[in-house]
Amino acid sequence: MLLRHTPETNTEKTALTVNPAKTCQPVGAMYAALGIHNCLPHSHGSQGCCAYHRSALTRHYKDPIMATTSSFTEGASVFGGQANLMESIHNIFTIYSPDIIAVHTTCLSEVIGDDLKQIINKAAAEGKIPAGKRVIHTNTPSFKGSHVTGFANMTQSMVQYLSESTGKKTGRINVIPGFVEPSDMEEIKRIAAEMGVKTVVFPDTSGVVNSPLEGKFRMYPKGGTVVEDIISAGDSTATLALGRLASLPAAKLLDTKCKVPLFPLDLPIGLRATDAFVDQLRKTAGVSVPESIMVERGQVVDVLTDMHQYFYRKTAALVGDPDHLVSLVQFLTDLDMKITSVVTGTPGGPKFEKAVRACTGDETFVKSGAGADMFLFHQLVKQRKPDLIFGNTYAKYIARDEDIPLIRIGFPIYDRVGHQYFPIVGYRGALRLLEKILTALLDRQDRDAPEESFELVM
Ligand code: SF4
Repeated sequence: MLLRHTPETNTEKTALTVNPAKTCQPVGAMYAALGIHNCLPHSHGSQGCCAYHRSALTRHYKDPIMATTSSFTEGASVFGGQANLMESIHNIFTIYSPDIIAVHTTCLSEVIGDDLKQIINKAAAEGKIPAGKRVIHTNTPSFKGSHVTGFANMTQSMVQYLSESTGKKTGRINVIPGFVEPSDMEEIKRIAAEMGVKTVVFPDTSGVVNSPLEGKFRMYPKGGTVVEDIISAGDSTATLALGRLASLPAAKLLDTKCKVPLFPLDLPIGLRATDAFVDQLRKTAGVSVPESIMVERGQVVDVLTDMHQYFYRKTAALVGDPDHLVSLVQFLTDLDMKITSVVTGTPGGPKFEKAVRACTGDETFVKSGAGADMFLFHQLVKQRKPDLIFGNTYAKYIARDEDIPLIRIGFPIYDRVGHQYFPIVGYRGALRLLEKILTALLDRQDRDAPEESFELVM
């Protein structure tokens, strides 16, 4: 898929997306559902949709993704999918015995208008849901939103169906980590534990989509948030929502449903956002920041100081998911890099644009939602010729055509392995990011250097 035909001049597209900078809602919903222990995600639609959702996640995480489908054929497409879902629920509990089934819709079932809540109630009334087992659902129409919206919707449904307030506080703090890698969720838990803060992190895909190879098949890997913890999230002291798009809806619902106060934060990517996360944990839990965390922070400051000369005034174009982009832009501008353009297919609204511009100023091109596609991003890269591109695997075609180094970040990354094991959040994540960015810049400098300037020490 070489893109050399992409013209440099922008033409206004009002009803057309070319090469979207997003994937479909159920992909995010399925990913969130995998973050519940012993959960089987279920796609209510045709087999083709489910095959795509599973393969998108399998290719990114390099782990087999378990999920089921209502397997719509012509009959269900015309008369609705109730019978298919009823039979699915019965079969799934009988054959695969999960603790919980998390159902999401597809474009097809959304257009038909299947009432999932009613179908689940009917299944319960007819005894198809065994005692102690649960079925939850969320609506994920893919003709609006993106995989990030789907993630947010499923996370919100966890609260809607499960979380309860008993009036007896547990003293724990909820952390909704957003659509990040399992390694990032692990790192968020590690930082909190290091600070002595008891948390409920949900959804939590660590130990699920990056589980170890043990030589035997596990339908349900060891990781994931247990259902009881999501229930007790209603009794926590507070909720930290990391990322406005992916995490805030669930946190808001916890506030209105269970009176758990929420603190919206950016994804803790980079120094400033990680500082804010650590500080909020400190204040909310009433703890002090231990020396070990201060050492990690100091190392980032040290490395950042050593590297600053290489980053100063370098330019970057970014494409990806809004929550990632906001924190990344903040980090890169803190490094004194200039941001030429920021594009996301997820509708981020004016708040997204405002958050980016608060760091970059008005010269940066910022666009989200309809029309913010990879085609537009390519045109912006052609016009503004940045030193670096940040984006997922799909950006590699643009990077190759324009001969600009690509920092792979976000979702999906199909053509590299290992990202699911190395965090980009927290101070350790910041170190990794700094190393990735500098290596890309200096590799390019080495490649382009004439013989007399090819240096051993740079
Ligand atoms: S039809 Fe809709 S839900 Fe199915 S794969 Fe396509 S965008 Fe996703």
